Amino acid sequence: MPLIARIALNRPLRRLFDYIVPDNLQLVPGQRVQIPFGRQQATGLVVQTGVEPPTGINLKQVTDVIEDWPALPPETFRLLSWASDYYQHPLGECLFTALPPALRRGRKAEEKTEEWWLAVDNAATLPSNAHKQQALLHWLSQRPEGAPASDILKAGFTRAQLKALRAKQLIETMSPPLPGAHPETSQLLSKRPVLSPAQQAAAKQLTTPEEGFGAFLLYGITGSGKTEIYLHYLKEHLGAQAQALVLVPEINLTPQTVARFRHYFGSRIVVWHSALNDSQRLNTWLRIRNGEPVILIGTRSAVLLPFNGLRTIIVDEEHDSSYKQGEGFRYSGRDLAVYRAHLNNCPVILGSATPSLESIHNAEQSKYCLVKLEERAGNATPPVISLLDIRSRPLEGGLSRPALNAIETTLAKGEQALVFVNRRGFAPVMMCFDCGHIIECPRCDTRLTYHRRDRAMRCHHCDYQTAATEHCPKCQSDAFKPVGQGTERTEDILASTFQDIPVVRVDRDSTQRKGSIQDILDRVNSGEPCVLVGTQMLAKGHDFPNVTLVVVVNADGGLFSVDFRAPEQLIQTLLQVSGRAGRGTKPGKVLVQTCHSDHPLLRTLCNGQYLDIADQLLSERDEGQFPPFRAMAIFRAEADTMEKSLQVLDAIKPLTSATGIETWGPLPAMIARRADKHRAQLILNAHNRKRLNSLLTGICQELDQRKLPAGVRWMIDVDPQETG
Ligand code: ADP
Ligand code: ZN
Ligand code: ZN
Repeated sequence: MPLIARIALNRPLRRLFDYIVPDNLQLVPGQRVQIPFGRQQATGLVVQTGVEPPTGINLKQVTDVIEDWPALPPETFRLLSWASDYYQHPLGECLFTALPPALRRGRKAEEKTEEWWLAVDNAATLPSNAHKQQALLHWLSQRPEGAPASDILKAGFTRAQLKALRAKQLIETMSPPLPGAHPETSQLLSKRPVLSPAQQAAAKQLTTPEEGFGAFLLYGITGSGKTEIYLHYLKEHLGAQAQALVLVPEINLTPQTVARFRHYFGSRIVVWHSALNDSQRLNTWLRIRNGEPVILIGTRSAVLLPFNGLRTIIVDEEHDSSYKQGEGFRYSGRDLAVYRAHLNNCPVILGSATPSLESIHNAEQSKYCLVKLEERAGNATPPVISLLDIRSRPLEGGLSRPALNAIETTLAKGEQALVFVNRRGFAPVMMCFDCGHIIECPRCDTRLTYHRRDRAMRCHHCDYQTAATEHCPKCQSDAFKPVGQGTERTEDILASTFQDIPVVRVDRDSTQRKGSIQDILDRVNSGEPCVLVGTQMLAKGHDFPNVTLVVVVNADGGLFSVDFRAPEQLIQTLLQVSGRAGRGTKPGKVLVQTCHSDHPLLRTLCNGQYLDIADQLLSERDEGQFPPFRAMAIFRAEADTMEKSLQVLDAIKPLTSATGIETWGPLPAMIARRADKHRAQLILNAHNRKRLNSLLTGICQELDQRKLPAGVRWMIDVDPQETG
C-alpha cells in the first residue's frame, strides 16, 4: 500500500491535499515539498504522514522534498496548527506565514548574501552630464550604514550606475550587516545599574527557564525599571546556548530599547520587523532555525519564527493593541507567546504599566502570576496627574491659558514639556461657516483631515488625498475653516508662543524618513529645553529624563465611545503618556484637559492606581457580559453594496444559534463604507470558548460549501480588538 501524506498549500483554502509519497522519500510534518498542483508545480508543507489512502481517487505523487529537514520544527508547527484552529484561519496560510517570502516561493533554504554598497567619497563632484550617478552618490551617502542592492534598484537606480561609480572609486561593496547588529562595539557589555530592592523583590518571583513553564504578569508602573529587570533576567538565567524572544509593539519607535539590549548582549541581539528586506528575513530566519543562541527583539510576527532552543519569552507593553494582527491571519502575538511558552516549557514574562484587562483577569484566575513593581527606579517619583476643565476657557491651538503657563514655567526652568494630541494633521475637519459644507472622503464614510504642511486633504482610512482649497468648494465662500485639533495646529501655536524654543513634532508624518525618530530622540535626550508635540507615538516606552510636564490636549475622545474597549484604551494611553513625565531626578506633572472633569473614569485616573481602575473596569465588563468574561468573535463582511454584506451575515446568523451563544447584528460597521467597500458585522458572544470554537469551525465548513453572491468577502475575527 502506498504511503500517503497530507499537504498544505499557501492558499486561502480550508482543506489539505493528499499525495503519494515515493519510496525513496522520508517525510515529516513541517517539511517543504514540491508537488504537482493543477498544471503547475507548487510548494507544499507536509501536515501529516501515514494517512489512510482514500478509495476511488487517483492521487498524484510528491515530486521531491525541498530539504530533508522540517522547515517548521515541531513546536512551531504545533503552535501554528493550534493558531489555525483557534483563529479559524486556513492552516496552509498560517503555516506559510511562518516562512520568509523566499521560502514560500520554494527557494532553497540557503543564506542569501546580498550585495551591499557604501559611499566612500561623497564630496566628489561628477561631470555635469552624470546627474543620475550624482543622485545615486547622494542617496548612498545619506545611508552611512550602507544599502542593499535591492533597495538601490527599488529607488530607481541601475546596476550600470553602480558600476560607473565603483570604477570612479566613489562607492564600494560591503558585506551585509546583520539585522540589529551594530557597528560600534566600544560600549558593549557596559555595566548595568544594580537592581533596587523593589526590582530585586520582583525579579525573585520570576522562575528560571530550568523550572519550565511559568506565565508572569509583570505590572510595573511607568519608569519602574521593567526593561532593567528583563536585562538582568536574561543575563542571569538564559545561559549562553539558549534562545530568547523579546516581543515589542513597534521596534522603530523605540530604538532606545534595542540599544539598551545591545549594550548588554552585543551581537547576540538580532531584530525582526516589517522593514527587513527579503534576504535579511531569510538569513535571520535561518539563524533562528539553526538554533543560534540569539536574543531576538521583534514585533508581532516574531512569535511565529522557527526557534530551536527557545528558553525565555518576554512580551513588553503587553497591553498594546498592535500585538493583534488586523487582517488575514488575525492572531494575537501576545497570546501566541503564552501558548508558545507552554509548548517550549519555558517562562513567559508579560510586562506593562497598564496591563490588559485580559491579562489581569488571567492573573486573578491564577493562570498568570502577578508580580508588582510599584515604585519608580533610581530617584524618580511617579508624576502627579490633575484635570483641567476647559469648558468655558478660550483655547489657542487646543491649549488653555493655564496649560500654556505651565509649559512656560517648565521651559523657564530649563526643562522639557510634552503635549499629547490624539490626531495627526492640522485639523480633523474643514468646514464652511457659510453653507455648512464639510469635506468628506469620496470613498469612505469619514471626513478628510487637513494637512497644512502639504496643502492636502487626506483620508486616514484609505489612501485618498486631494489638494486643499482656500475657499469652500461648494459655495466659494472664504469662511472655510479648520475645526478641531491636530498635531500640526498645536505645533504652530506652540512655535509662535515660544519663539526661541524648539518645538518638535512626533507623528507618523514627521517620522517617515528613516532615522528621523532617532534624530528626534537624540535631540530630546540632549536635554535642551524643548516642547514635544505628538500622537500616541510619544506614549510608547520612551525614556526622556528631562521631560517634567505632560499636557493632554483633550482626553474626551474615548469617554463616550460605543466600543467596549474604549475606556480601557483611554486610561492606558493617558497613563502611558503621563508616564513620560518625571522619569529623571526631577518630579513630573501631568495636566489633562477635559470638558468632563467630573467623569468618574477621569477622576480615578488622578489617583493613579491602575490596578484599582482596572478592577472597576473589569467589573463593568462582567456586568455587561463582555470579554474577558465571555469569548467573542466577529463575522465581518465587505462588498460593493451594504445589502450584499448584510445578506451574507443574515445567512450566517441562523447557523450561530446554539445554547450559551448570543449574537448581535448583523449591523453596518461604525465606518460603514471604507475604500468603497460596504462593511457589516455580526458579533458572537459565548459563555464557553470551546463551544464557540467548534461552532465557528462548523460555520466555516458550511460557508465554504455555499455559493455566496459575487464580490462579497467574509472573515472571522476571534478575540477582536475593535468591535466598531
Ligand atoms: P520601564 O521599562 O519600567 O519603563 P526602565 O527600565 O526603562 O523602566 O527604567 C526607567 C529608567 O530608570 C531608565 O532610565 C533606567 O536606566 C533607570 N533605571 C532602571 N533601573 C534602575 C536602577 N536599579 N538604578 C538606577 N536606575 C535605574
Ligand atoms: Zn477614505
Ligand atoms: Zn460653503
